[in-house]
Amino acid sequence: MRLIPAFLLFLPQFVFAWGANGHRIVAQICYDNLNPTARERVDAALGDNYLAQVSTWPDYVRAESGWDFASPWHYMTVQPGQTVADVVHETAADPGIFDVQEAIAFMSSVLRGDEAARTRLTELMEKNGADPLAGSLDATALAFLVHFIADVHMPLHVGKNRDLGGNRITVLYFGDRYNLHSVWDTQIIEQERLSFTEFAAFVSMHTRDRKADWAAAPPQEWMRESVDLRELIYNTLYDRTDRESGLPDFGYDYQHDYLPIVEDRLGAAGYRAAAVLNAIFG
Ligand SMILES: [Zn+2]
Ligand SMILES: [Zn+2]
Repeated sequence: MRLIPAFLLFLPQFVFAWGANGHRIVAQICYDNLNPTARERVDAALGDNYLAQVSTWPDYVRAESGWDFASPWHYMTVQPGQTVADVVHETAADPGIFDVQEAIAFMSSVLRGDEAARTRLTELMEKNGADPLAGSLDATALAFLVHFIADVHMPLHVGKNRDLGGNRITVLYFGDRYNLHSVWDTQIIEQERLSFTEFAAFVSMHTRDRKADWAAAPPQEWMRESVDLRELIYNTLYDRTDRESGLPDFGYDYQHDYLPIVEDRLGAAGYRAAAVLNAIFG
């Protein structure tokens, strides 16, 4: 039996987000593509914090029980045979915020100055004892919005619920055991050994000719793309299964094939987050 390195035993079992650097890369590309008015508004809302810095805050507060109510906002479920358009939770009779699609719309409304949405977020935080980021409703909504636009571009965040978006699928990645979700959230990015600003610069260079097309696509298209990529990711598992361990075995060839997809998703998320903020603040 393979010995599992000790540090792996202490990793949280399920992680539901691009790793910290994935979020920072998206936020950096977003910030670089803001128009001057939007950039001023973002700077004013964040005070002494960088957008890339606060983009990981929604994951950090998941450890605080006050923010438990926001946990379902990081992902959505689209079952096989369903389309993104089929997934509708919120109705006039039950105006909750049930998944990342609805959370993106909600945070956009808060930033747009919609009084009902602002009151609702304030009340949700007060009722649950959840502290806003930097004591500010705008900073909180901004961090959430940029974070959630990134999350929904991670193909396994538009998941099938049976395996919790790949969290229950064990794979080998460069010889170590990970769950499939964390390979896509974190490992493919970390394997490049780049800082988030270096990574953001490379992604921006590689994807700049597609910026306008991506930015023009509506939110349901972002999720539909994730579903298509998710199916591609699942289809690779069988062909790469190692005979001896019975586990999908990913190494340099996997990294080579799928790093461009990860780059595309980070780029698309960054440009789209910028387009959303430019439209809200511009
Ligand atoms: Zn998240
Ligand atoms: Zn994740």
